[in-house]
Amino acid sequence: MKNSEAILVTPKHFEIQEYPVPEPKEHEILMKVEYVGMCGSDIHGFEFGPFIPPKDPNQKIGLGHEVAGEVIKVGAKVTKFKAGDKVLIEPGVPDDTCEYCRTGRYNICPGVDFMATQPNYKGALTQYMTHPEEWTYHIPEGMTTLEGALVEPAAVGMHAAVLGGATVGKSIVILGAGAIGLMVLQACVSLGAKDITVVDVIEKRLELAKKLGAARVINGKEQDTVAVLRSEELYGDHGIDLVFEAAGAVFTAQQAVQLVARGGKIMMVGTQSKPVPIDFLKINREVTIQTSFRYCNNFPQTIEAIASGRFNVKDMVTNVYDYKDVQMAFEEAIDPVKKTEMVKGVVKVAD
Ligand SMILES: [Zn+2]
Repeated sequence: MKNSEAILVTPKHFEIQEYPVPEPKEHEILMKVEYVGMCGSDIHGFEFGPFIPPKDPNQKIGLGHEVAGEVIKVGAKVTKFKAGDKVLIEPGVPDDTCEYCRTGRYNICPGVDFMATQPNYKGALTQYMTHPEEWTYHIPEGMTTLEGALVEPAAVGMHAAVLGGATVGKSIVILGAGAIGLMVLQACVSLGAKDITVVDVIEKRLELAKKLGAARVINGKEQDTVAVLRSEELYGDHGIDLVFEAAGAVFTAQQAVQLVARGGKIMMVGTQSKPVPIDFLKINREVTIQTSFRYCNNFPQTIEAIASGRFNVKDMVTNVYDYKDVQMAFEEAIDPVKKTEMVKGVVKVAD
C-alpha cells in the first residue's frame, strides 16, 4: 500500500508528497480516505497559510478535516469497528481533562488536537490516515461516504441551531447563505422551525436556500434587508426572535442588531475577521449575543437527520474534484469569479 498527502508548501501551493501508511495505535482505526470537504478555513489556509502559524518552520502543513472513508485496519483494542466499515470522523480530539471537557463543553477545550491546525497540522487530504475509535462514527445505511464527509460542517450548523434555541414557532433570519448559512438553515428546519428567512447577495445561493426549506429569501443587493423585514407586513416593531450571522461581515453583524426582537438572540456563526462596532442602546431589552464554536455532542443527531433525509447535504455540493487536481480545486475556491459559483467543494480521494 502506498500513501501520499497534499502538503501546503507555501500559501497557494500544494505538493503531493509520498508518506508511509500510518500504523493504527491500540485504540485507533486506519481509514482509507474517500471524500474530503473543502471548508472555508481550509480555503483561507490555502490562500494565506494557517490562522495560527506553526512554531516550527519545518512543520508540514496539511489541510482538510471534513472526511469519510473505509476502515482498512484496526488497533488491538478497537471494539466498535472492523475492516470494511464505512466511517466518518470528528476531527477534534479534546484532552478529556480540563474544566470544559469535564463540564461537557469539549468544543472549547484549549487542549484540543484539531486536524489541520496547531499543534499537529494533520490534514485529511491524504490517502490513509489514523484516528481514535472514540471519535469515529459508523456511516448508517442510506448515507453515502460523500454525505458522510459533510456531517462535520452540518454539525456546525446543528450546534448553532441547538444553542440558538431554534424551534417551531420562532421567527428566524439567517444572514449569509454560504455553506455554513445553508447548514444552519437545514439544522433549523430539521429541529422543526418553519418561519425562516435567508439573506444573501448571490441569487444561486438563494435559490438553493428556497429548495432547502427557507420560507422566504431576500437578495440584499436588490432590497434593503432591514426595511423589508421590519415592514408592517413582516416583523414590524416586534423584530426577529433568532438572528444568525453567518456571513462573517461587519455589515451583517450590524444588521443583526437592527433586526433582533426584545429578549431575542443573535447567534454569531460566521468568523468575524474585524472588530464590529455595536450600538448596545439598540439592544438593551435583554438581547443575547452568543458565539458558536464548532460542535459538541452533535454528530449523532446530525447523522440521523441526514440519513433520514431531513437534512440534505448532497444538493449543496457544487464542485467535486479528483485528488490529483487538489491544487486546481483550491485555486478555483479563491478565484473571484469561480468562488461565487461554489457553495460546497469536495475532493474525491478514492471511491
Ligand atoms: Zn479539555
